[in-house]
Amino acid sequence: MSADCIFCKIVANDIPSSKFYEDDEVIAFHDIRPIAPVHFLIVPKGHVESLAGCDDSHQALLGKILLLAPKLAAQFGLKGFRTMINTGREGGQEVFHLHIHVFGGGDTLPKI
Ligand code: 5GP
Ligand code: ZN
Repeated sequence: MSADCIFCKIVANDIPSSKFYEDDEVIAFHDIRPIAPVHFLIVPKGHVESLAGCDDSHQALLGKILLLAPKLAAQFGLKGFRTMINTGREGGQEVFHLHIHVFGGGDTLPKI
């Protein structure tokens, strides 16, 4: 737990979220500012700042999060989806607690 980290507070249930999945290592909840009809975040319970802050000890956790994405996407009926991990301020990261965006639904997403 990192003081003043909004996602640590969500993990601890200190602030509310639309959490729909939880296990011993991760939670998933809907993004407060969705950019697609379905847009959720998969967040490790332990505080790690970003993908750049990960090391070999996070290998299994990162694999678990990626494997969880299609399972949770299927729960919302998504036939396809996009995953995104913003890393660092220059990478567009705003919340410095590692998370993976999963979003889709509606029209085909634009090519990037
Ligand atoms: P980043 O830009 O760091 O990759 O993504 C952070 C995401 O967290 C943003 O899409 C933002 O809308 C979302 N977010 C920020 N604060 C909250 C919050 O308090 N609750 C929820 N559900 N999402 C949040
Ligand atoms: Zn945190």
